[in-house]
Amino acid sequence: MLDTRILNELLDWLSDLLGTDYRTAQARPSGAGCINETYEIYSQQLDSVFVKVGPVGQLDMYEKEALGLQLLDQCPAIRVPAVLGAARLQHCSVLAMEFIALAAIKARHEARFGEALAQLHSMQGKAYGLEHNNYIGRSHQINGWHTDWWVFYAERRLLPQRKLAQAKGMRRALLQDLDRLLGLLPHTLGWYQPPAVLLHGDLWSGNMAVDPSGTPTLFDPAVYYGDAETDLAMSRMFGAPGAAFYEAYHTVLPLRDGHSLRRNLYDLYHWLNHFNLFGVGYLGQVEHTLAALLRELS
Ligand code: ADP
Repeated sequence: MLDTRILNELLDWLSDLLGTDYRTAQARPSGAGCINETYEIYSQQLDSVFVKVGPVGQLDMYEKEALGLQLLDQCPAIRVPAVLGAARLQHCSVLAMEFIALAAIKARHEARFGEALAQLHSMQGKAYGLEHNNYIGRSHQINGWHTDWWVFYAERRLLPQRKLAQAKGMRRALLQDLDRLLGLLPHTLGWYQPPAVLLHGDLWSGNMAVDPSGTPTLFDPAVYYGDAETDLAMSRMFGAPGAAFYEAYHTVLPLRDGHSLRRNLYDLYHWLNHFNLFGVGYLGQVEHTLAALLRELS
């Protein structure tokens, strides 16, 4: 539960931000975030507000999440919580957004959701990457712009995770295998330069839901422009929507040759990140995925 001192400064801040008195509102834990403490700020007379609360030094993470939500909000087919504000307070940092009564995706929502994701993936950027760096979970995600997908993916996705993994004590042989893969990428796959489309970036099934009207809703993004298949790969990593989701998606954006090999490559980024964030429980997935890739690519 929120410490009273933090709750009070949060309610003061919200009241100033929204021009409405939230000082008598209450907080209840909402959702089960992997990274942040999340609460619904509620009272009988007021609209509920969803807040993420973290240490004072966490403001940058919240500001980047807010920018990501605003980018996703450009896609009319998808609902995204409206950002209310982010701030560093005396004892915490906070991100406040519209509270949406979210529900799990059911079979009847899947086709619309798949089509909506394809609409998002039809929004093209000027190159791979993004103006600013952001976060994937708690890890830094390096962006900037690049015109070659595999150079971008090797240098700004896999390599930073490889460096973190070394610092976390990943064994030498595995790091060397990773280096071998990094060296192979631009040469063996250079022919594949997909459209640079707007990505959610952290699209595991826990970051997709529907609002009370059944509208596809996305939150907790790690946005950048890149290969649409990265989002599709992640959507299958920890539980996945049903077949109707993917059928509707591929009616708009058909499958491309070589997708199963790329799926392993795209999973590898998240397995490495999970190893770096949550520990050795994810080492097996890193080893398995890396071995499969080296078998296919070398
Ligand atoms: P974390 O940053 O810790 O991963 P999430 O953004 O995933 O946190 O949010 C945690 C949970 O809170 C989600 O799984 C979802 O159920 C719920 N949630 C997220 N955003 C909202 C929102 N705007 N309104 C209501 N519930 C939300």
